Amino acid sequence: MGELCVLDDVFEQFLKSTPILKERRVLGHDYVPDRLPHREEQIRFLGEAVAPVLKNCRCSNVFIYGKTGTGKTAVTRYVLGKLAAKSRGLGGSVDVSYVNCRLAGTEYRVFANLCYALGVNVPFTGLAVGEVFERFRKGLESKAVLLLIVLDEIDALVKTRGDVLLYELTRINETLRDSRASIIGISNDLRFKEFLEPRVVSCLSEEEIVFKPYDAAELQDILWDRARLAFCDGVLREGAVGLCAAKAAAEHGDARRALDLLRVAAELAERRGDDTITEDHIWRAERRIEHDRVLDALKNLPLHSKLVLYGVYLLGKTRVSFAVTGDIYEIYRELCSELVVSPLTQRRVSGLINELDVIGLLNARVASLGRYGRTKKIRLGISSSLVRRVFADDDRVGPLMNYAPKCLTGISS
Ligand code: ADP
Ligand code: MG
Repeated sequence: MGELCVLDDVFEQFLKSTPILKERRVLGHDYVPDRLPHREEQIRFLGEAVAPVLKNCRCSNVFIYGKTGTGKTAVTRYVLGKLAAKSRGLGGSVDVSYVNCRLAGTEYRVFANLCYALGVNVPFTGLAVGEVFERFRKGLESKAVLLLIVLDEIDALVKTRGDVLLYELTRINETLRDSRASIIGISNDLRFKEFLEPRVVSCLSEEEIVFKPYDAAELQDILWDRARLAFCDGVLREGAVGLCAAKAAAEHGDARRALDLLRVAAELAERRGDDTITEDHIWRAERRIEHDRVLDALKNLPLHSKLVLYGVYLLGKTRVSFAVTGDIYEIYRELCSELVVSPLTQRRVSGLINELDVIGLLNARVASLGRYGRTKKIRLGISSSLVRRVFADDDRVGPLMNYAPKCLTGISS
């Protein structure tokens, strides 16, 4: 009965509260605004680069790079959307294929996606990559179009797979008669070109556009633009927008980050029935985002990293204020044998500890043992209650939650 009352209250509260958002989707990740302040230059440059296709000529390959959240995807989608519309209006034959390489994951999937966009059938898996490429080429040739191929987050693909695919693609025009293709490559990694062979680089970056990080004032403009569409009048305080912009600018001028802060702040305010969004909501939003990020990272760790982390957690429950690699390895091996999985070598485990340190789940610092050399002092980088909460629900590690390691019986509290 109590629960029902509580729920009634929740619903009543929600119904009574004044709405603060009028267009929620405007703050979502895939919304493409029809104005992109402070990207006029990049829009014009990309527009000029691709314009030749309107006169039925192939345009140059364009290479776009800049850090995450600097508007690369938004600008590219915006310009190519307008271009395709213009071409349709003129009765032209321009086609745009967009693939996000990181989401596609493999060369096979990238080409399969390009095939689907042309209406060419390929099975989900099973062909050789070369065969998929060939079907794409034939499909393209038979359509007699000018195709703009956008390879977004291309760095994610090339770093793991090399650049064979790109090389083939840059040469595709040599084998086409009735169609032409141009590549627009987008990279979040500024050093991406170092991963490519020089001939691929020179071919890909016939034109180059750099997206610089936004500064706080530019982020404010972007946020206000979006806020006017998303929020009811008077809901959003100026200080809140200023703080959002300052925080995102301090990171690396990331507009996605700024918009995320604003969206989460709005959700928090809504849930609490507040009718304005203040700086306080932004602070809370930041903590929430950080918390979710840690949670995600924890949940998605590979099994052996989880076991290492759990070992450090168990050591932390004893009165030892920090752990050394040897202790962690010992307890890790015990946990492995408990789960009947074969343990990795101590070297590999050392590597895992470093990785966990880099992403902030562990805190490791090198300590001198005087003439006995150096060792690492290792602690959890996050609260032990969080580790416990996440791992308790974990299929593999969950069953170990009440496990008392034998190697700890001596030092246990
Ligand atoms: P990138 O591809 O460089 O990582 P995105 O283009 O995805 O960045 O931009 C991140 C988010 O910020 C998107 O929601 C996008 O709509 C928004 N955004 C980026 N730049 C602008 C801008 N100049 N004006 C309005 N919104 C922008
Ligand atoms: Mg992007």
